Amino acid sequence: MNDSESSQVEVHDREVLENARSIIRGTESPRMWAQAVVEAVRKNEEWRGEQCINLLAPEAPTSPMVRALLSSEIGTRAAEGNIGRVNRWFAGTQYIDEVEALCVELLKVTFRCNYADHRLMGSMLGNMAVYHALTQPGDVIMSVPQPFGGHSSNRIDGPAGMRGLKILDVPFHGEELEVDLDGFAKTAREHKPKLVVMGMSMTLFPLPVEEMSQIIAEWGGKFVYDGAHQAGLIAGGQFQDPLKEGAVILTGSAGKTFSGPQSGMILWNDPELTRPITDTIFPVLAATHQVNRVAALAVSAAEMIEYGKFYMAQIVKNSKALGKALDEHGIPVLCAHKGYSQSHQIIARVKQFGGGLEVAHRLAQANIITNKNLVPEDKPEDWDHPSGLRIGTIEVTRLGMNENDMTIIADFIARVLIEGEDPASVGKDVIDFRLPKQTLYYNFDNEYPTWAKI
Ligand SMILES: *Cc1c(COP(=O)(O)O)cnc(C)c1O
Repeated sequence: MNDSESSQVEVHDREVLENARSIIRGTESPRMWAQAVVEAVRKNEEWRGEQCINLLAPEAPTSPMVRALLSSEIGTRAAEGNIGRVNRWFAGTQYIDEVEALCVELLKVTFRCNYADHRLMGSMLGNMAVYHALTQPGDVIMSVPQPFGGHSSNRIDGPAGMRGLKILDVPFHGEELEVDLDGFAKTAREHKPKLVVMGMSMTLFPLPVEEMSQIIAEWGGKFVYDGAHQAGLIAGGQFQDPLKEGAVILTGSAGKTFSGPQSGMILWNDPELTRPITDTIFPVLAATHQVNRVAALAVSAAEMIEYGKFYMAQIVKNSKALGKALDEHGIPVLCAHKGYSQSHQIIARVKQFGGGLEVAHRLAQANIITNKNLVPEDKPEDWDHPSGLRIGTIEVTRLGMNENDMTIIADFIARVLIEGEDPASVGKDVIDFRLPKQTLYYNFDNEYPTWAKI
């Protein structure tokens, strides 16, 4: 590294960037550079796609039909604005309009609501649209701090902070992982927040949407449910129905439990919100909006309508079963006294095994993919080295696995963490277990796994 390199401010890992530079230096052929990209994608597909047990909670494998649409011709077309011949800047969009209208209408059916928007690339932007549409700089909002599962999009370091909002904490019970309703009522009545935004990346149990909405209705406050993680569970009727319980807006990521292409979805019922929200989406946050992704989102909504109920119920059964099996091995899992979880996630306390960062990387050597996570006893500054591990069951469920498979997965994890076995040797058995399981279910190509034929 020379002097100018060492003084260059860099957020990325220097070694990984240097590796890329050495590939570029290694040949003068742009074709070879392109080949290096293709090769990295291929290696990921082989390892993460075929050999690993992926237990990342915000990740879902998309169906064959959704994947095919993601590389379709329609994705090369420009279509700004709202649906319809007068609303677009460009001519020739009639089939694109058909796709987009189907997407909007299918999302409404899926989430049982009056309005839906499909144009934003992620939930982070969806939340930004909500803040822009419903608040002014200086307004007070309440959201959940990160150690209790809150997401940065609703905190000072995300879109809420960027909007210049004053952000107060929704009090949380650490042991129960539930909102402290009395504490909430007290703080809320004192500060009268304009919005309460509940966005939980660590999400085990439904939230008291009705109770909280009633409290803030006293001064016209609005409840926004950032259901990035829970969108599929909500659509499948396996969690709670925030829009029925008092939330005025539901935002969601389509790439988490919803199991579609990574996208932001915004759902609401009140016609008064339609202009503020959609005028923020276009022309503020989206111009061309990836119509291939929109087509894929529409198909994943149809999949959710057809298979969501059974699929999401199995995801929850699997997370409970995995939590129980890990706990029985001596790996403590949060909220054992409440059945571990009613979602796609469980959270293990892994400080005694080296902490979240260390454990996640050790398991990755065994081809088991999880993520480090803050737990209630951590501080926000512990972000890089938290004491928890978040484990999700979306992908293993879509690969057709059930509760029996969860006990096998727990055995693999325990061999690494409890018995101290070499991760590489466990990893060989993980690959043997995973390789025969390549079919993705709960979609129009493959329907249900054989054990679930109903
Ligand atoms: C993942 C997540 C987001 C961001 O979603 P993207 O679709 O990745 O932009 C927002 N809010 C919460 C609570 C999340 O967990």
